Amino acid sequence: MLDEAEFVVVEKLYISAMRAIKAYQEAHCGRNTPEEGRQFMIQQYGPVLEAYKRFTGWEEPMNPAELMHHRISKYGPPCSICSKPLRTPKAKLCVACGAVRATQA
Ligand SMILES: [Zn+2]
Repeated sequence: MLDEAEFVVVEKLYISAMRAIKAYQEAHCGRNTPEEGRQFMIQQYGPVLEAYKRFTGWEEPMNPAELMHHRISKYGPPCSICSKPLRTPKAKLCVACGAVRATQA
């Protein structure tokens, strides 16, 4: 899970990878093989995945688009019972353990 500062770094890399891929697809439209396109995408997403690994220690392969959901602020505070993050900042129940959210101060 990324905190805001980490998310900004990963998001910037992701956006620049997306732009490069879009430009590549427009420039090569129909003139490259699917494998060439795939290799280019892997190359572009490399720095995004590297940054994510650096911040989180996560080693499993993953879809770069999914990284954009791994942002702490999208979630609520940790559950007072099981400490897992609540699904949304406004969640009233913990989906992990079913606990009702403690009343906010
Ligand atoms: Zn819980």
